[in-house]
Amino acid sequence: MNKNTTVEKQCIDCKQILPLSKFRRYKHKSGDSGYRGSCRKCESKAELLRYHQKETQSNIEKKMECITCKQILPLPKFRRYKNRSGSISYRRYCRKCEREQSRERYQLQIAQSNIEKKLQDDDTFRFMDMYRKVKG
Ligand SMILES: [Zn+2]
Ligand SMILES: [Zn+2]
Repeated sequence: MNKNTTVEKQCIDCKQILPLSKFRRYKHKSGDSGYRGSCRKCESKAELLRYHQKETQSNIEKKMECITCKQILPLPKFRRYKNRSGSISYRRYCRKCEREQSRERYQLQIAQSNIEKKLQDDDTFRFMDMYRKVKG
C-alpha cells in the first residue's frame, strides 16, 4: 500500500469528502473489511439520536407496579430521582401514592406534635399539682 496516497471518501450523510481515517472500519463475517458510508461524526450523531429515541420510547412503553396501590402504571407516573451513583432511578410507588403518603406523614406529624404538646401540658399540670401539695 502506498503511504502517499490519501484515500478520501464522501460521507453519505454530511456529503463531505473526508480522509478514510474519519470513517469507521467494519468487518464482515466473511472476512471482508470496508468503511462505513457515513463518517464517525455522523455515525455518533445518529447513534445518540437512536439512543435517545429508544430511551424515550422504552420509557413510554415500560410499566412498573406501584408497591403501594399495586397498579401497573407507565414510568412517567413515577417520580425520578438520582441515586448515589448518579444514575436515574424511579421510585417504587407512583406519584399519586407519594402525594398521599406525604399527606399522611404530615397528618401523623401533626398528631405526634399534638401528643407531645399534651404530654407537656400534663407535665405542667402535674408539676403545678405537686407544687400546690408541697406548699400545702
Ligand atoms: Zn458525515
Ligand atoms: Zn400507587
